[in-house]
Amino acid sequence: ILSAKNIQKHYGELKVLDGIDFQLDAAKICAIVGPSGAGKSTLLHILGTLDQADFGELYFNGEDISQLKGSKLSSFRNNAIGFIFQFHNLLPEFTAEENILIPAYISKKEEKESMQRAQELMKILGIEARAQHKPGQLSGGEQQRVAVARALMNNPSIVFADEPSGNLDSKNAEELHSLFLKLRDELGQAFVIVTHNKELAAISDERHEMKDGKLARLD
Ligand code: ATP
Ligand code: MG
Repeated sequence: ILSAKNIQKHYGELKVLDGIDFQLDAAKICAIVGPSGAGKSTLLHILGTLDQADFGELYFNGEDISQLKGSKLSSFRNNAIGFIFQFHNLLPEFTAEENILIPAYISKKEEKESMQRAQELMKILGIEARAQHKPGQLSGGEQQRVAVARALMNNPSIVFADEPSGNLDSKNAEELHSLFLKLRDELGQAFVIVTHNKELAAISDERHEMKDGKLARLD
């Protein structure tokens, strides 16, 4: 569903991505590992259209998405993909449920359907009882699950996650990883996950290592 060819990115003199090829299939979890500063986040942001490559091709279901702009770009970001970060980035003034509904609100989706979708996601993620709590009233693991629900709200084809369990203790990390597997198996959700977590890399369907500007398939 996602295909990248010869992606290159420089920051001034620094060549961060030196010709990356990448392919993602539906219902697969793909892990990207590698040392700090190797360019993992940079690559994830380019694959997810949050940032633009200097050179290279990017296709989503065969469609060239490397040059999307304006409303087409915002619509793609808000509907085709979801993002999860190390720090959940929830809005502190809004409840868990309101945070989850934000993508639907941005896309002007029908309210009743959106509420149903939010309820369904909270149930899958085991946070129904926390719907009316604000992020500050939730544990770290719960906050991250709200962030996962928000990323899934508009039923994206691909979820990109940058160190999703980097800020969680091992028990909460394990629970989050099981949820990724469940979402893959039950919803056919595809993931591209940057992680330092060995267990998360181990349960992924494939592993790639980012090093010296190149991406290499492991095992
Ligand atoms: P970490 O594991 O620490 O998160 P990473 O593999 O995600 O590292 P990136 O954040 O992609 O690494 O950064 C790759 C390199 O590009 C680093 O040397 C970083 O300093 C540099 N870099 C990242 N963003 C910018 C920017 N906006 N301007 C200039 N340099 C940048
Ligand atoms: Mg990073």
